[in-house]
Amino acid sequence: MVLLQGNFACEMKVKANSPFSGAGEGAIIDGEMAEPDVQIITSGGLRIPAHSSVLASASPVLGSIIEGPQKHRSSEGNIPILGVPCDAVSVFMQFLYSSKCSEEQMENYGIHLLALSHVYLVPLLKRRCTRGLAERLTIENVVDILQLARLCDAPDLYLRCMKLLSNNFKAIEQTEGWKFLQSHDPLLELQILQFMDEAESRKKRTRRQRQEQGLYLELSEAMDCLEHICTEGCMSVGPYDMDPSKNTSPCSKFSTCHGLQLLIKHFAACKKRVNGGCLRCKRMWQLLRLHSSICDSPDECKVPLCRQFKLKVQQDRRGEDARWRLLVRKVVSAKTIYSLTLPKWKREEEPRTTQNHHEIRSFK
Ligand SMILES: [Zn+2]
Ligand SMILES: [Zn+2]
Ligand SMILES: [Zn+2]
Repeated sequence: MVLLQGNFACEMKVKANSPFSGAGEGAIIDGEMAEPDVQIITSGGLRIPAHSSVLASASPVLGSIIEGPQKHRSSEGNIPILGVPCDAVSVFMQFLYSSKCSEEQMENYGIHLLALSHVYLVPLLKRRCTRGLAERLTIENVVDILQLARLCDAPDLYLRCMKLLSNNFKAIEQTEGWKFLQSHDPLLELQILQFMDEAESRKKRTRRQRQEQGLYLELSEAMDCLEHICTEGCMSVGPYDMDPSKNTSPCSKFSTCHGLQLLIKHFAACKKRVNGGCLRCKRMWQLLRLHSSICDSPDECKVPLCRQFKLKVQQDRRGEDARWRLLVRKVVSAKTIYSLTLPKWKREEEPRTTQNHHEIRSFK
């Protein structure tokens, strides 16, 4: 029943994984395997007998070749699939019958199968190939696969290639594939360089956002410390009605808390003050104002000036300006965002930017 002609090596392999081994539904009529009624012809001259009903149901393109005018096939029902190794065509046929292909076949014929799945519109195989090739991307093959992904309209694979390229450009620049691309496809070269440029500015943007987020988080921590110092006291600083000697050991947020304590001590003793142009006093003033904007129980609050700031906002008909309100919102949300992203943050190479542990940074 299986008629094979041509290249002997191909013939043996095709027999070993004959497409009929996992026969598709279309080939079985009344519980029996129907006779093959078409033959696939490969570049190597191999003939693979097949069932037109199976081919048509697996691939609309093969379907229209079978049903359409006999332009693409000879009168004997031959359908040529040329331009790829005959073994790749065998694997393709096997997939059309069984929807299966092995990892080894993917390893050997992944690029051909992607091309075939694209040309003959077999989405399931195309997805398999996209995934399979993405797993097998290397510095050496990435340029070739990128070009194939573009030709075959496989955006996921294309993006994976672009990312690998932009992360390993120094090494890839040295490969034969890249040199060939440079001399044959300047447009794609340009697209790659543009992608890398955009990736770089994306990275910069993320870095900036993370730094900003770090600042808000620092402020949020400073707010916790301020309340804690003014309520419970910490080390040598505390509310006037509390004996400061009771809290001599550093707390868990030592660096922020200690910086804040130094600032409070300075604020209490400074002769220049805010209006005299003292920057440290101005910073403390802003922190106190920020606390007041966040504080929801000013009547019991022990933080200095909390109520006064609240009253001032109420009296001032314009209220707080938009920029200040935005700052307050961001400080309030910083902690939530931080706790959500903590595992990722820990992995990143850039820890939160605490530039100076002994001072609270200025923020406006
Ligand atoms: Zn403390
Ligand atoms: Zn001062
Ligand atoms: Zn308060």
